[in-house]
Amino acid sequence: MFELTEMQEAVRSTAREFAENALAPRIEEIEHADKFPQDLIDTMGELGLMGVPYPEAYGGLDAGLVAEAICLEEIAKVSPSAAKLLTVCYLPMDAINLFGTPEQKEKYLPGMCAGTDIGSLAFTEAGTGSDPKQLTTTAKRRDGKIYINGVKRFISNAALEGTIVVVARDEGEDTCTAYLVKKFCKGYSLSSKWEKIGFHGSHVYDVFLDDVEVEESDILGGEKGGFDLLLGTTAIGKLAFAAVFAGAAEGAYGLSKDYIRNKMHRGTSIAKFPTVQLRTSVIAANTLSMKLMLYRAAQDAEMFAGNMRRVQAATALAKGYIADLSNQTIQMCVNTFGAYGGMEEYHVERYLRDSVIFPNIEGNADVQRLISGSYILKKDDSLIAD
Ligand SMILES: Cc1cc2nc3c(=O)[nH]c(=O)nc-3n(C[C@H](O)[C@H](O)[C@H](O)COP(=O)(O)OP(=O)(O)OC[C@H]3O[C@@H](n4cnc5c(N)ncnc54)[C@H](O)[C@@H]3O)c2cc1C
Repeated sequence: MFELTEMQEAVRSTAREFAENALAPRIEEIEHADKFPQDLIDTMGELGLMGVPYPEAYGGLDAGLVAEAICLEEIAKVSPSAAKLLTVCYLPMDAINLFGTPEQKEKYLPGMCAGTDIGSLAFTEAGTGSDPKQLTTTAKRRDGKIYINGVKRFISNAALEGTIVVVARDEGEDTCTAYLVKKFCKGYSLSSKWEKIGFHGSHVYDVFLDDVEVEESDILGGEKGGFDLLLGTTAIGKLAFAAVFAGAAEGAYGLSKDYIRNKMHRGTSIAKFPTVQLRTSVIAANTLSMKLMLYRAAQDAEMFAGNMRRVQAATALAKGYIADLSNQTIQMCVNTFGAYGGMEEYHVERYLRDSVIFPNIEGNADVQRLISGSYILKKDDSLIAD
């Protein structure tokens, strides 16, 4: 497809081996446990997968965003839940790597790259999932200290020990600021986990912040810098989620091909049925187009790293497209199995349940199309040029 560098190849084979040898045999455990198994996170840390795009100086591989996309794609082929968990770990790391002071990078990134500090990013609230101006969680200054109060909704990895980046409104202002908070510090508590249709191995909670005390040195990206921080961080985060969605479709495609090759219908292989051949062709074409779009967006994000609006438009274009196409493609894979497609033992239903969530995570797919469409019309149409 694309010629990969030695480093990208190495990341791909490490992630693939981890997914096939460590994750695949433990899918049932991952999907049914109350917490993602810590030893698997430790292994990802030891293999370097927690730090794929981050500087070597902080324990990362410095392998770039194409390698990050490849890593997530390989893991999502086997376990979209595990890939989502890793994507969420990358979000606060991106925020720190892009916006942190040298001291903050030194303090947080090595533990996060090692998998001993499992990050989260808390933006969403009951009243907003995409619009920072609607935030109600507020940071107030009192006696030289800063106190955060509010409730964050659907926060991934919130029950895993580590650091959470909380985005809170500045008191009396329309602006917001990001803060580095230690999970389970005084004032930090959780709801019970939300029971959702898919991604059963990666849990979300409401996070209650009750007078959580932070210092000036915990401000990430400067006072009133929350919006820019979100823009820069989610620009890369969208790429990571697109990789999860594309990888999941590839995983379901693999299951569908295996099933077709082994399934007989009244003495004839179902591979001989024109309907099955036609469907397989569409599934293959969709899967290929998602892969191409993903790698292109990742290259774009590397090339235009200093221009966050450009990166955001490219990754939003990919994420909006891949989120919906992956969901539709996985549904086609399920149909290939006939009635067996809905049965847990055949696994493809797990991908379908996960994929129902794809258009509504880290910004709705419609909102992604608004971001990329308005960027193309107002600023630049080079998103699809050479
Ligand atoms: C499994 C899971 C994990 C999550 N993890 C996290 C996490 O770790 N941290 C975190 O902060 N959040 C997290 N979220 C929240 C998620 O990012 C938001 O739910 C998502 O951004 C969508 O927001 P919303 O649900 O408020 O929907 P909205 O953005 O309000 O969208 C609702 C509807 O309104 C439409 N709409 C919205 N805005 C516009 C607009 N401007 N113009 C036109 N139409 C619009 C959309 O098309 C959609 O149909 C998670 C969600 C899920 C499901």
